[in-house]
Amino acid sequence: MTDRLYPAAWDRDTGPFFTAAREGRLVFCACNACDRGLHVPTPSCRFCGSIDTSWRDARGTGTLYSWTTVTQQAHPAWPVPYTVVIVALDEAPEVRLTGCIPGAPALSAGQPMQVWFEDIGQGRTLPNWRPLQNGDLA
Ligand SMILES: [Zn+2]
Repeated sequence: MTDRLYPAAWDRDTGPFFTAAREGRLVFCACNACDRGLHVPTPSCRFCGSIDTSWRDARGTGTLYSWTTVTQQAHPAWPVPYTVVIVALDEAPEVRLTGCIPGAPALSAGQPMQVWFEDIGQGRTLPNWRPLQNGDLA
């Protein structure tokens, strides 16, 4: 059995993100003063300095910002190849979240992406991303 790295669901800044994921919801931290998304979540806004921030529900859609396919095995829990994707949220493109797709899929910048929720054990859930399929939003 291989140890896997788990997110810190108890963390003050990121805990709400992982708690929502466990409930099947994607959320992001946003500034209520300037209305911009804050990722990595912080207690104050890096754009305007306000401490008036809150968590907002996201639709769970975005566009592919960037990606890379890993072909050299660095950790036994992550068999290669896999593709790490960075997705910009539709409602807050400044919020860019990462995901992981097995294999080396054909991808293109700007293509629509859809969140899905991966149970990784120990009561933890990670938001992950895949290309939007026809009918996903029906
Ligand atoms: Zn702000």
